[in-house]
Amino acid sequence: MSSFLPESIQKVIDEFSRLPGIGPKSAQRLAMYLLHSPDLRVNDLASAVSDVKVGLRFCEDCFNISEEDKCRFCLDEGRLKNQLCVVEEILDVIALEKTGQFKGLYHVLHGVLSPVDGIGPEQIKVDELNKRVHLILSEGVEPAKMEVIIATNPSLEGETTAMYITKSLKPLGVRVTRIARGLPAGGDLDYADEVTLTRALQGRLEYT
Ligand code: ZN
Repeated sequence: MSSFLPESIQKVIDEFSRLPGIGPKSAQRLAMYLLHSPDLRVNDLASAVSDVKVGLRFCEDCFNISEEDKCRFCLDEGRLKNQLCVVEEILDVIALEKTGQFKGLYHVLHGVLSPVDGIGPEQIKVDELNKRVHLILSEGVEPAKMEVIIATNPSLEGETTAMYITKSLKPLGVRVTRIARGLPAGGDLDYADEVTLTRALQGRLEYT
């Protein structure tokens, strides 16, 4: 599509449009905002963006974002090793941490199962969860004392994923629970306020 704007601005608009939640109109507004900003501010933004992945990796245990091989939660001796909270995204970890209610470890799936979108177990970190639970049990944690809390979003995909996880973990004899339905259906975990999230966590039920 031909543009009436200089190529450099159009390029910025195109890149902004690819970001989640940014439509073409917002992308244009952001580009115009940059155009009117002082050079220093634009340069700060550019370097922050270009450095965003420098020195970062996924934790080898839980796939949370980390500056080391293992994230701060997995390295923390004070966290309960027999409680794993399974979430869709890194932002969900932050949302749950803010409640101050959860003292176990996390497992970040990096997505949810969605057969219609072609997202199967290989595309997310779901089979890694099974391996991780196996490993924890092999280190001497009794299955009956191990709890996996599924905190995927209350969407169709979130439920599908919860079912898949339950099926794969139940044979190991561990407890599988699901956070309560205090969350609005279709709502995102990381948008929920702390009180709602705390209630959802405390009111979790055995997943059967
Ligand atoms: Zn970790």
